[in-house]
Formats: sequence, structure tokens, C-alpha cells
Amino acid sequence: MPTVWLTFVSAMNDERSKELARTAFSAYLKSRKLRHTTERDIVLEKVLEMPDNFSINSLHASLVQADRVSLATVYNTMQLLAGAGIVRRHKFEGTVSHYERVSSANEISYLHLVCTECGKIKVTKDAEISRAINSRRYPTFHTAYFSLCIYGVCSRCARRLKKK
Ligand SMILES: [Zn+2]
Repeated sequence: MPTVWLTFVSAMNDERSKELARTAFSAYLKSRKLRHTTERDIVLEKVLEMPDNFSINSLHASLVQADRVSLATVYNTMQLLAGAGIVRRHKFEGTVSHYERVSSANEISYLHLVCTECGKIKVTKDAEISRAINSRRYPTFHTAYFSLCIYGVCSRCARRLKKK
């Protein structure tokens, strides 16, 4: 399986969105009568430091070095964070899952340009497509956000394939 490298557009690092995420997580754990453990807090704090888009491998790698949090705990906590609406999980064809931090202040939807050769994902925004999708109304359905994947070959792989 190819390593997934993610390019992020902008990091939402401001204190206000961090506080909102902490409050949302506490409320979520409480509502489900789940324990608010130190390990879960460590994972949340690391997620808040990550770029907007990241893979679970890169998250775990930084946690293993600093805090020795197990992979099982990372997976478990990421599910809780997704349940609490703090992150979104994306699974692209032929790649590992990756997560996107939800910016509560201004909901942004992304396009994901997925290279079918190396698995690299470039995250980008397209105002025109966002406007078009956000203005669509579907019967008996309320749109919250969208995730759009465009599959193709990145310029590096295109050059490599040309040389063969
Ligand atoms: Zn590629």
C-alpha cells in the first residue's frame, strides 16, 4: 500500500475553534457515559495541532514518540471524535483512511485529487463547485457538507510513467 501524503490548505489553529472542540468532546463523552481519560485528551490535543487533513498513521506516529498512546486508543478516540463531529473520516479507494478536522466557524468542503498511481491526495478548494453544490436542494434531505474525489495521475507519476 502506498504511503498517503496529504497536502493541507489551511490550518485552523485559533484558540476559539480549539475550545469549541474541547467542549464538544466533553459533552459527547458525558452524553454517552464514556470516561474522559487522559489518553483521549492527548489524542484530541494532537488532532487540534494537526493540519486540517491527516492520516491516522501520521497522527499515531507523532503520538507514539511523545506520549506512547497505543494504536488501538488512537483508533478508538478517532471514532469518538468523529461521533462528536470534531473530525470527519474519509476513505479513498486504494488508500488508507484519513481524517479531516471540521472547522466549526466556517464549514468548508474540499475537493480531493487522488493519484491512482502513488495514492497521494491533494486537498484543494473550488469556490465555483462549492457554490453549485451548496445551492442544490434535494427532496427530504438536508446537505451538511460534501466530499468530492477526483481520480487521476499526479504530475510526478505522469513524469515517471513517461520515462518508462
Ligand atoms: Zn502520483
